[in-house]
Amino acid sequence: MDGTPLLTKFFFAPRVDRPLRGGVSGVAIALVLAGAGVASGCSEVNAGQAGAAYKDMPSVVPIGVRPDRYLPIPQDALAPEVEPAKGYRLQLLGRGLYMVTDNAYQSLFMVYETGVIVVDAPPNYSANLRRAVAEVTDLPITHVIYSHSHLDHIGGVTDLGGRPVLVAHEQTKRLLLRANDPRRPVPTVTFEDQHTLKLGSQVLELSYHGEGHGHGNIFIYAPEQKVLMAVDLVFPGWMPWRRFALATDVDGYFRQVAEIDRVPFTTFVGGHVSRVGTHADVRLQLEFMTDLKAAAADSLKSTPFGEELAPEDKSNPWAGADNYIDRVAAKCVKTLTPKWKSRLAGYDVWIWDQCYAMEQSLRID
Ligand SMILES: [Zn+2]
Repeated sequence: MDGTPLLTKFFFAPRVDRPLRGGVSGVAIALVLAGAGVASGCSEVNAGQAGAAYKDMPSVVPIGVRPDRYLPIPQDALAPEVEPAKGYRLQLLGRGLYMVTDNAYQSLFMVYETGVIVVDAPPNYSANLRRAVAEVTDLPITHVIYSHSHLDHIGGVTDLGGRPVLVAHEQTKRLLLRANDPRRPVPTVTFEDQHTLKLGSQVLELSYHGEGHGHGNIFIYAPEQKVLMAVDLVFPGWMPWRRFALATDVDGYFRQVAEIDRVPFTTFVGGHVSRVGTHADVRLQLEFMTDLKAAAADSLKSTPFGEELAPEDKSNPWAGADNYIDRVAAKCVKTLTPKWKSRLAGYDVWIWDQCYAMEQSLRID
């Protein structure tokens, strides 16, 4: 449904006396509406176009509507800047273990006695990955671990050169065989539940925890350094990417975030955002997820079906469901906003998506 023109579904006509976020007034919105040819205050039914607002809309603008400004980023969510000329930032996480990041994506490399293991190669900065390794050692890259199959995390692996051993979960192999993508060579070593990579004096423990963010997404744990990497699940300081980072199994996603908290790491690497995380970050996200689940469940229960639906649409079951789901999501967003709007960076960017994903999961999973 992300591709649907939500402006037409959803636009609300704010009252002139109530300023929206960032100080934009209802007058400004009305002018935009007028400019876009959207009729307002029209008494006849204007099929397919924006009508009056649902009752009790939250202050965060819905999907498909341009906000005047997004909410400011809390200081806690930020990390040291990336030198533009360099294109990446290197951070030592423990003996021989480094994070490489462009402050949007994150990958790891680990140096052992005769070589280097790389975990993920995001195309965003993969052209610089060899240079990042060369800052630390002249040893060759002998192994690459794929956290999962997604192009945005591993699609730069061929930039690393050589013929490294490619390690991944067997589901990742299945998906990459299907994708048949030259940017993502098929793994040469796969496993089902657990796999320990011991090279020289360095150890990485790989484990699979089922579906959540798709199939084949693994935990990568360095027991000596107490560093856990698990990608697209926890976003330290930030709202998770929309729809729980596009989780294919929302329930599995919730279970895996709780599982991350049970790993005895001191440093968490989530594959995204600008900084590494701690257990406090994982618990904050868990608290948000718990609140979100409760808000969506309550909204599903307390929102009456069929209200605020034009009488002409009563015989259209899709329209009835759309109207209901929109009002459920609106109530969910409204419930969560006071507590969370300044606690997770980017709250306003994805909160509608999270409420839609949550209410859907609660209805059908
Ligand atoms: Zn992914």
